[in-house]
Amino acid sequence: MSQKKVKVRFAPSPTGDLHVGNIRTALFDWAYARHTGGTFLFRIEDTDTTRVTDEYIQAAIDTLKWLGLNWDEGPEVGGENGPYLQSQRLDIYAHWAEKFLDQKDAYHCYCSPDELEAVREAQRAANVAPGYNGHCRELTADQVAAYKAQGRGAVVRMRMPDGTTTFTDEIRGEVTFDHKFVPDFVLVRADGSPLYTLAVAVDDVLMKVTHVLRGEDLLSSTPRQIRVYQAMGVAIEDYPVFAHLPFVMGQDNAKLVKHPFLGIANKVICQRQSVIT
Ligand code: GLU
Repeated sequence: MSQKKVKVRFAPSPTGDLHVGNIRTALFDWAYARHTGGTFLFRIEDTDTTRVTDEYIQAAIDTLKWLGLNWDEGPEVGGENGPYLQSQRLDIYAHWAEKFLDQKDAYHCYCSPDELEAVREAQRAANVAPGYNGHCRELTADQVAAYKAQGRGAVVRMRMPDGTTTFTDEIRGEVTFDHKFVPDFVLVRADGSPLYTLAVAVDDVLMKVTHVLRGEDLLSSTPRQIRVYQAMGVAIEDYPVFAHLPFVMGQDNAKLVKHPFLGIANKVICQRQSVIT
């Protein structure tokens, strides 16, 4: 693992109560920070304003406190890399998106949802991997003017070059993604709001995170995040180390990760009480 002072982060998107997978990630992050004398950073990823609520944000904070997983940087305690709610960092993401557009790492995409659906439909019919087909990659000024005249909005899309991304995951070893399966992806919605893939990568760099410990459901996000680091000009040795933890499974071998944590905690507490009384 990297020789730098460890900084890990727990970065939930509170679209509901924290689930078992979140808690396992938080516990591993906290334990790794405490074991190495590093820093445990807590960040709220609340850019999806249609699904995140203030109540869920507060519940996430309260749950971590209840568990005793104290954090060194984050909501309530502050720190030099704040603010720690992504909804308060929108100007930072807008700055980077603009820079990526200037550098031609990203481009405006005017495709409508119906057009994108038609592309997916054709890909399904042809039995090829689904994903953006690059339609707006090289638009001429006239084409852009025509789309604008139609009143179309545009998302900002990151250009994925041909080739592969390889990184060493601390748990899985060397992992390679062929970009054939990592199409150009959206960084900013047509309403100007950033997507997870942009915000998470920008924040991990700016907040100087050294280790990303998280569930394996996010493994396929990693090549996109590495692409954002590249566009930010981050040196390879400064990329965070990744460790994707396997899913938490129940006794029936079904995934437990998405179960609400508080439901299970309540059950355990009730069972304990019935044993005690
Ligand atoms: N906010 C993401 C989620 O809750 C996790 C971010 C990450 O660990 O990279 O799914």
